[in-house]
Amino acid sequence: MNILNTQHTKIHFNDRKDLKTFNRKCYVRRDIKNEIRKRKIDTIEDMAIAKVDVIFEKVMKVLDTYPFHNLDFNVTILPDDEDVSRKFMEIYGKKVDYIAFYSRRNKMVYFSARHAKLRVVAHEFGHVVAELWFSPTSPSRTVHEIIAQATEKLIYD
Ligand SMILES: [Zn+2]
Repeated sequence: MNILNTQHTKIHFNDRKDLKTFNRKCYVRRDIKNEIRKRKIDTIEDMAIAKVDVIFEKVMKVLDTYPFHNLDFNVTILPDDEDVSRKFMEIYGKKVDYIAFYSRRNKMVYFSARHAKLRVVAHEFGHVVAELWFSPTSPSRTVHEIIAQATEKLIYD
C-alpha cells in the first residue's frame, strides 16, 4: 500500500490507476471544483488529495462542524466494489455488496474507485464526522445513518 498525507487524512492505495479512476469518477460540482482549482495540482496524487480534502471540508461545513481538528481517520481507495466487499468480509466476517463503507473499528473509509461519486464520498465522510464529533461515545447506528444521508443531500445545496 502507498500512503498520501493530506491535510485532514491519509489516503491508502495500491495502484496509481485507482487514484486516477477515483478522480475521474468522483465528479464534483462547481463550488467544490473552484476550491480545488485554488490548490496546486500537478499530479494524479495532488488531485486525489485536493478532492478528498475539499469534499471533507465541505462536509464539515454543511454539518456545521468546521473547523474541527480532532480528525483521526484514514481513507483507502480500492479498485472495485468486489474489493470493498472483500474488505468488509475480512473485518466483519459478513457478506455484503457495498461500494463504500466506514469502519469505526479501523477508523477507515473504504471506497471503490470505480464507484466513487460525490454523493458516496459525502455519505461516508458524514459517517466519519458523526463518529468523531460525538467521540468518545458513538451515535447509534440509526443516528449515524441519518447524519450520513443528510450529508449526501446537503452537499448539493
Ligand atoms: Zn451509511
